[in-house]
Amino acid sequence: MSDIDVLVIGAGIHGVGVAQAAAAAGYSVLVLEKNGIAAGTSSKSSKLIHGGLRYLESAQFSLVRKSLKERSILCRLAPSIVKLQPFYIPIYKNTTRRPLHIRIGLSLYALLGGLRKENLFKSVRRKEVKKLDQLEQAELQKVYQYNDGQTNDVQLTKAVMSSAESLGAELYCPATVISVVKNDNGFNVTYQDDDKEQHIQAKIVVNAAGPWVNELHKLVDSNVDAEKTESLDVDLVQGTHIIIDTSAPSGIYYLEAADQRAVFVMPYEINGELKTMIGTTEKLFHGKADDVKPTTEEVDYLLSVYKSYFPKQKNITIVHQFAGLRVLPKDDGSMFSRPRDTVLHWAMPGLLTLYGGKLTAYRSTSESVIKKIKPFLDNRRRIAHTDQLYLSFTDLAETDMRVT
Ligand SMILES: Cc1cc2nc3c(=O)[nH]c(=O)nc-3n(C[C@H](O)[C@H](O)[C@H](O)COP(=O)(O)OP(=O)(O)OC[C@H]3O[C@@H](n4cnc5c(N)ncnc54)[C@H](O)[C@@H]3O)c2cc1C
Repeated sequence: MSDIDVLVIGAGIHGVGVAQAAAAAGYSVLVLEKNGIAAGTSSKSSKLIHGGLRYLESAQFSLVRKSLKERSILCRLAPSIVKLQPFYIPIYKNTTRRPLHIRIGLSLYALLGGLRKENLFKSVRRKEVKKLDQLEQAELQKVYQYNDGQTNDVQLTKAVMSSAESLGAELYCPATVISVVKNDNGFNVTYQDDDKEQHIQAKIVVNAAGPWVNELHKLVDSNVDAEKTESLDVDLVQGTHIIIDTSAPSGIYYLEAADQRAVFVMPYEINGELKTMIGTTEKLFHGKADDVKPTTEEVDYLLSVYKSYFPKQKNITIVHQFAGLRVLPKDDGSMFSRPRDTVLHWAMPGLLTLYGGKLTAYRSTSESVIKKIKPFLDNRRRIAHTDQLYLSFTDLAETDMRVT
């Protein structure tokens, strides 16, 4: 491949989403990934395809509405990978979010989701509450139940890449981008594969390198006068999950921790068995993105939340743990309430960088990327629409084989 329309750096959910949307719009696309599909943040998420009930508290209404719409699209397009689950919100005497607060939140959530049947919520009957996964019953006042989506983030990312490939996009992996040089025809991108350096010329470059986005900008140079890369100031915020050797709960528990943060307890499949996953945390990260890992403090925090709600569960053994990095706009405010929507930023004419965002909204984010880059590319005949492309995990073996 010598001269392509769109070169995407990173095969996380955003990189593969952009590849799919660009290929669907008729462009030639190449994705360069240094480690593997979903090797970065896209395998370290809470695996929820959700509007984000808690974002209502920070008034991120448009993000919630957009994400609920995307949830419904993904449930339709990827029924084997994205599934609705019952979510339970228990309210105790000392829970700060009171029943009225939760009712208002859930009503607004249902309204923003379009008042469909799956968006309705209810107060769980007393006798059903008693059967809920050994949930602490002392001082328990009420449990609300609503529905939201759960996925396997790796399977979803691979399925989207597979769909992009079926439209003509290509993926090179391992391929580590080591320099991006602007010239009169676009960009000359150099990457390292297993044993040598390779070059490729692209009209547009999309930087979807997740927590590595600003590191990537340091590799960019320009032969065109007076053009410099501009990065946005961001914080990397670490989030850890632990998986314990306790059989999976019957739904997803939305719990309030002692510091009032929301923590989820949810089913998680590991080695063919359904276990319990607990997450997540928010901890400012200062190191190199490659080095992120769970800290003892985070693991203790998650265990203490779990034990306070499920005190009857004894002999808890951690079988797996992982940490990922959110990319959030720099701000002095609490990490919990910072905007979670994606920011699309022209780091240099022709080089579009994606900051932050949600797994859930990858498709609409990718369509926004296409709108932004389209004016800089020749007209092409659209070959598909991403809201009509079925996503299936069974395509994966094929995708893996096609990774070069
Ligand atoms: C703890 C946590 C929980 C989350 N939970 C949810 C959730 O439940 N629901 C939800 O909707 N969202 C969630 N998110 C957000 C979501 O996971 C992320 O927005 C999303 O995964 C980011 O994907 P990405 O493609 O931008 O980045 P990444 O997945 O990190 O992909 C970037 C890729 O770029 C590659 N790369 C980097 N540098 C180079 C280079 N020089 N050359 C080639 N390749 C390179 C990396 O190897 C990596 O694969 C969560 C995030 C975190 C951190």
